[in-house]
Amino acid sequence: MIIKRKLPHGEELINPLGIGTASLYQAAEDEIKATFDLAIEKGINFFDLAAGGSSVFKPLGEAMKGRREQVFLQLHLGAVYDEAGEYGWSRNLTKIKDTFAKEMAALQTDYVDFLFLHCIDEIEDYEDLKGEGILDFALELQKQGIAHHLGFSSHTPKTAERILQDGNFGIMMFSINPAYDYELGEDEYGIGTIKERKALFALAEKLGVAISVMKPFHGGKLLRSDTSPFQKELSAYQCLAYALDRPGVIAVVPGVRNRDDLVQLLGFIDCSEEAKDYAPALANIKKVADIASCVYCDHCLPCPAGLDIGLINKYYDLARIGDKLAASHYEKLSKHASDCLQCGHCDSRCPFKVKQTVRMKAIQGYFGK
Ligand code: SF4
Ligand code: SF4
Repeated sequence: MIIKRKLPHGEELINPLGIGTASLYQAAEDEIKATFDLAIEKGINFFDLAAGGSSVFKPLGEAMKGRREQVFLQLHLGAVYDEAGEYGWSRNLTKIKDTFAKEMAALQTDYVDFLFLHCIDEIEDYEDLKGEGILDFALELQKQGIAHHLGFSSHTPKTAERILQDGNFGIMMFSINPAYDYELGEDEYGIGTIKERKALFALAEKLGVAISVMKPFHGGKLLRSDTSPFQKELSAYQCLAYALDRPGVIAVVPGVRNRDDLVQLLGFIDCSEEAKDYAPALANIKKVADIASCVYCDHCLPCPAGLDIGLINKYYDLARIGDKLAASHYEKLSKHASDCLQCGHCDSRCPFKVKQTVRMKAIQGYFGK
């Protein structure tokens, strides 16, 4: 079962399993519509529309008819489409306005839930985008109530950090998977260092900016042993669970090509904890000593004292980077670090060699219980 998530500054209840449309556009129109219908019927309510082609907009509009309020759309200013419907990238305001109008008409809607500035990987690009009036256009749409929340997508931590500091955005789309987090994956746009990525996620958390995740499978490389940097394939469910365990993440948007892909993906909702457990696969990592921090995977459970070890660690990390709610969430837990028996079971089980016997003492000292 999946529990819906709320934006830090919003009431929307988002199903953390969303859908991306970078591949779906290649299917026939009937299949695209049927895929959206099935997704909505199964409770998927978050759709990313940085589409590979414009053919997805009309069938989604049809699928949303009479149930628009059940769906949250993430639309990108800067993703444009030519006459043949092929995707392109633009910073031309006229073209962007024209594309936006066409998308809204095809979707048969008069508002967009999340309006994004698309794919900003360099500060110079962000400055250009502001200079061209594209940010002002987005802000105006927000003022008019046409865009409910503003966001941006990026692959580059330093750029994203700089953009966040402007304070205009409530959500960002970022590439997250274990390969990038451990600097084992190559991304054509640059993934940044572990330190930069951590600083970015900490800042997003501090500012209350939600994260929607792209590239959860590292472009499919994590799903095959011959391309996985962990020398072992991860399952799609392990990758999804990993992304959704990261602080601040509200949803992940893996792409589907058709209903068959969607049905496979939907299996994540009710799959066993074992099927989602990514820790054993990541434990192959050679750089484990560089990480030495808890990734909240809960592979060390059960704790004989009943501690929710991953959650306790997550609240601790969040509280230390300025998340004001984390301490009250910690307070409400039935068991706290002070209940730790120092039995060492978790230390022996942790694939990442985290010493919870030491950490629990630090957590107790920090929260006072
Ligand atoms: S201590 Fe290790 S096994 Fe336990 S939640 Fe943290 S990373 Fe996972
Ligand atoms: S050391 Fe503490 S947290 Fe770890 S398993 Fe034992 S009681 Fe639980």
